[in-house]
Amino acid sequence: MKCRVCGQTASISLRSHKTAFCDTHFITFFEKRVATTIRRYRLIGETDRPVVAVSGGKDSLSLWLLLTKMGIAADGVYVDLGIGDYSRISLEKIKAVADRIGRKVHIFHVPDVFGRNISEVAKGLRRAPCSACGMIKRYVMNKVCMDKDYNLLLTGHNLDDEAAALFGNILYWKKEYLWKKDIALDAREGHLSRKAKPFFLCSEREVAAYAIMSGIDYIYEECPFSKGAKTITYKGILGGLEEASPGTKLMFVKGYLKELRGVKEAMHEDGRAGAESEEGFCPVCGYPSGGGECGFCRALQKFELPYSARFEEYG
Ligand code: SF4
Ligand SMILES: [Zn+2]
Ligand SMILES: [Zn+2]
Repeated sequence: MKCRVCGQTASISLRSHKTAFCDTHFITFFEKRVATTIRRYRLIGETDRPVVAVSGGKDSLSLWLLLTKMGIAADGVYVDLGIGDYSRISLEKIKAVADRIGRKVHIFHVPDVFGRNISEVAKGLRRAPCSACGMIKRYVMNKVCMDKDYNLLLTGHNLDDEAAALFGNILYWKKEYLWKKDIALDAREGHLSRKAKPFFLCSEREVAAYAIMSGIDYIYEECPFSKGAKTITYKGILGGLEEASPGTKLMFVKGYLKELRGVKEAMHEDGRAGAESEEGFCPVCGYPSGGGECGFCRALQKFELPYSARFEEYG
């Protein structure tokens, strides 16, 4: 197969786009698509101060590099879960990219603040590791925005992540989550930052190809706690559908975004859109909590630790 642009041997064929590219022209194609998504959905404005949630994986590190190439200056934020080599190697990869693009990264060390790793935190809270991790990450990401004056949190979620989450929500009719996913989420002034996902319409395979072709050294291993996660099964099922009918995942997720606009407009018209912002805030730290103390503050209290959310800065 030949590259659509230069006619040289292609290194990647994209069946869903009915085309193929060499390394150089794939990078150009991919960057243009992301730039179009950012523009079309107004994900990043000229006056924004974005921060990228980095994990050491291909998605977040590719996003970080790509934004820099587009002239969008963004620092990074990383949550060190204290999972042995996995966390150590992830941080090494992040620091290498930070050095390459000349940006700093804010690092929240779970073991430093909680005196134990995420697995032990979860055990103490009688929660599954992913549930404790999700709670802490959500907290830390918002905290870095509030404390360090960023107004936009960018994440590397890709098309496969979004399609799998959407599939799971529909499969179990989780109506409370179904219409809450979006390519961008508004801020709640002073408490929650705005969020956006520039890779929402890019497949995992495309992002991985971009990372490799751009020379990003990312961590291949998944978090050990991701084993057996339902989303991995959903990704497999959707991968089968994509194989049989290229473009299915993109159609599924784009169709959802279109429907979502209609749902949001209807909610806005009948006054339901602002209902959520009436929830209460944590009296200790000001985080949205539905009233009493937030999960993060309650977790620290459980371990009889004082409130703390300190960051190490690298770069
Ligand atoms: S798989 Fe690992 S990183 Fe992901 S939510 Fe679970 S503990 Fe956190
Ligand atoms: Zn080419
Ligand atoms: Zn709190």
